Amino acid sequence: MIRLFNTYSRTLEEFRPLDPAGREVKMYTCGPTVYSHAHIGNFRAYVFEDLLQRHLELRGFKVRRVMNITDVDDKTIRGSREAGVPLAEFTAPFKKAFFEDLETLRIKRADSFPEATDPREIGKMIEMIGTLLERGLAYQAEDKSVYFRINKFPDYGKLAHFDLAELRSTGRVQSDEYDKENIGDFALWKAWDEVDGAVKWESPWGAGRPGWHIECSAMATQLLGEQLDIHCGGVDNIFPHHEAEIAQTEGCTGKQFVRYWLHCAHLMVEGQKMAKSLGNFYTLRDVIAKGYSGREVRYALMRVHYRAPLNFTWEGMEEARQALARVDDWARRLGGKVEEEENVQPASALDGLRRGERPTSNVQHPMEEFEAALDDDLNISGALGILFETIRETNRRIDAGEIDASEAKAWLEWWERVDRVLAISGEDGALTAEILALGEARMQARLAKDWRKSDELRDELAARGWEARDTKDGQKITRRGGA
Ligand code: AMP
Ligand code: ZN
Repeated sequence: MIRLFNTYSRTLEEFRPLDPAGREVKMYTCGPTVYSHAHIGNFRAYVFEDLLQRHLELRGFKVRRVMNITDVDDKTIRGSREAGVPLAEFTAPFKKAFFEDLETLRIKRADSFPEATDPREIGKMIEMIGTLLERGLAYQAEDKSVYFRINKFPDYGKLAHFDLAELRSTGRVQSDEYDKENIGDFALWKAWDEVDGAVKWESPWGAGRPGWHIECSAMATQLLGEQLDIHCGGVDNIFPHHEAEIAQTEGCTGKQFVRYWLHCAHLMVEGQKMAKSLGNFYTLRDVIAKGYSGREVRYALMRVHYRAPLNFTWEGMEEARQALARVDDWARRLGGKVEEEENVQPASALDGLRRGERPTSNVQHPMEEFEAALDDDLNISGALGILFETIRETNRRIDAGEIDASEAKAWLEWWERVDRVLAISGEDGALTAEILALGEARMQARLAKDWRKSDELRDELAARGWEARDTKDGQKITRRGGA
């Protein structure tokens, strides 16, 4: 049983997807605003979501994930104006960099990455705003912008657990900036303004652009349907962004939008949230430039429970490096053990495994324990504790000559499964155990003429940044876009 902490109820809840077959999971994750390079605080959120997806997949769920790209908002418009280039030209290199960074951190690609400026998405946003207006949940103000009327949505504030009495107070609130009925009302459609330059779309309410919140409601429902299983983001997204998403979507559909809301705590720097606005941030590229590898950063961002704040320090990066070196060394030793005995006695080494014997280990079923730790609201510290305890214990037994090739092989298989979730094995750019296993499975599928399976595995490899090609010498696996 998987239990997840739902921000909506503030309790741990058993995870059960909407799919009657209990298999498919619809997951939406708020993506980056592409006005600069994402910082590693943003990537903490994406690494947490990746861990969640990978664990659900290990547990047999089929995750369908959407991550949006916000390529129009105040910041992107300001950036393009300052750079003197059209909006799309300004955001393009940041989109490209974002996808490269995902690969560096071994974050699985979502099934789709819709962009807010895509005409299909803009169309959906306009349609939803129209519905909200019809239902009296929205109004056009004197400034020509369209706002959501929070007074008309009684559940507003339930996700954030805010007492919104103040925000709901009736009467026009004095504000120079807005012509809103209520200070808490948020923009669905922002009327065109001079500073927006060429950035505008036509709508029944005049030229303008969508508000940030409606982007996510539209992209999520367009691609995943009216109801989602899981919606994630950082805690700063809870209010107003996710609160607004609920109001807009449920205001249109009348159905519960999301079953489980998951939010990760911030990546901190000396007690403060890492943020662009505070200037205390590092991009992934900054950390890589200091000589750290993508998997070291991945490990450093992943190793603390997602709901606990994580302090970014260079000592923390060193610890990550040492931890990975330990894992590498252990896997190498086990590999050596397997080879050593296979060379001596090629036939007998695997006999035990062939007979289906369990490895005779002092550690009781670490696989179950590892997975059970993650079932418990992604208790990564517990899971890593089990991994390192296993490493310590097996190393001791290798030293004592107690581990033979078949047991070493069984441990490596265990590690291969663990690493499907952690994705930390192998030097950057090298073929990892996970990729090798996927390639092997694809070869088997082809031998069995199971083309569907083979294509699925090709997509799996592609999602991890690898390409499988079938040559006359058999299957070749290479970096996508590489040699
Ligand atoms: P943004 O581009 O600001 O919309 O942020 C993208 C994602 O990163 C959102 O899910 C944020 O909640 C998350 N995020 C931003 N700053 C941090 C941080 N310091 N630590 C963890 N997550 C963050
Ligand atoms: Zn969002």
